[in-house]
Amino acid sequence: GQVCEEFDEMRLRLKESKQAEKRYEQQRKQMIAGISHDLSTPLTAIKGYVSGILDGIADTPEKREHYLRTIYDRACDMDKMVDSLFLFSKLDLDQEPFHMERVDLAAYFKDWCKEAREKLPGMEIAFHPGPCASAPVLVDRLQFDRVVTNLLDNSIKYRKGDSGKIEISLRCTGNTVALDFQDDGIGIAEGETEKIFESFYRTDPARGNAAGGSGLGLAIVRRIVERMGGRVSAHAREGGGLRMTITLPKAEGDV
Ligand code: ADP
Repeated sequence: GQVCEEFDEMRLRLKESKQAEKRYEQQRKQMIAGISHDLSTPLTAIKGYVSGILDGIADTPEKREHYLRTIYDRACDMDKMVDSLFLFSKLDLDQEPFHMERVDLAAYFKDWCKEAREKLPGMEIAFHPGPCASAPVLVDRLQFDRVVTNLLDNSIKYRKGDSGKIEISLRCTGNTVALDFQDDGIGIAEGETEKIFESFYRTDPARGNAAGGSGLGLAIVRRIVERMGGRVSAHAREGGGLRMTITLPKAEGDV
């Protein structure tokens, strides 16, 4: 009986690992398709504008200037994308160094919001520290900056009109610190809350590159947060907008 039970357990584990392997393989294929598509779009544009110059279609200095500027912008898009891709694969291979330090998120966001308000006068940015007098966590400051910048960039890219409201709040519960980062932008459908963390997934594929995104931002966010021992999830807000929740283990002692 025991042999049978153990055999059955082994069979289930094998089945699970086969399924995980299949999922991984599928993600890998999707990622290669995503990279090829996203790199070929700006490349096609660059080729088109260069041949426009070579064929003499850009026959005035203004037109030439416009063509050259477009080529430069598309090359910058590709550059940004390759940088994101490089970071993404370094995180995947666990080759990105993390230097963990104790950071008080209450103080961090107080400063961060002040700076962001100065830089982005069109956005309303509010911070609610909640009942946390201090919210100490162990993070790599540079990588945490990257996470918050990605969330901010998305809230700006996917805002409804010319302005938008971002609200950041902290909740300290027992041994964790939860950070809510929410906006009042176009939001996502309830069924997309997990998919947006996949590489190259976009809720609106047609808008893809027009929004200037690499499609890797949230995949990078998830990898960084998990590498720091935390979790990140997305929630569609009632009445529109997106809420991102990041939970990190609380660091012991004061900051
Ligand atoms: P991208 O570079 O395309 O912005 P991300 O990985 O950062 O890639 O985001 C994946 C997708 O999730 C986006 O293409 C967008 O459809 C959706 N998304 C991300 N953040 C927001 C947000 N704040 N509001 C609405 N949709 C969002």
